Amino acid sequence: MNKCNDCQTMERHMHGSNPRPSLRTVGEAEAVLVGSGEESKCVEHHECGACGTKWTHSHDKSYAVEGWAVGW
Ligand SMILES: [Zn+2]
Repeated sequence: MNKCNDCQTMERHMHGSNPRPSLRTVGEAEAVLVGSGEESKCVEHHECGACGTKWTHSHDKSYAVEGWAVGW
């Protein structure tokens, strides 16, 4: 599957990118425990309306660590 221009742009900026306009959020944001379980991060699933690429966005409470990954 070929990625659209929006998704290709995001792929080059996996950290700190704002969602592209073609992305829509799928489902609810989930809190996922990490490490020893004392910390959690927020995980959101997105799907591109233009090319169908699935994206996962995760960030910690303070957004100090955040980024995008392809796939769910
Ligand atoms: Zn796309």
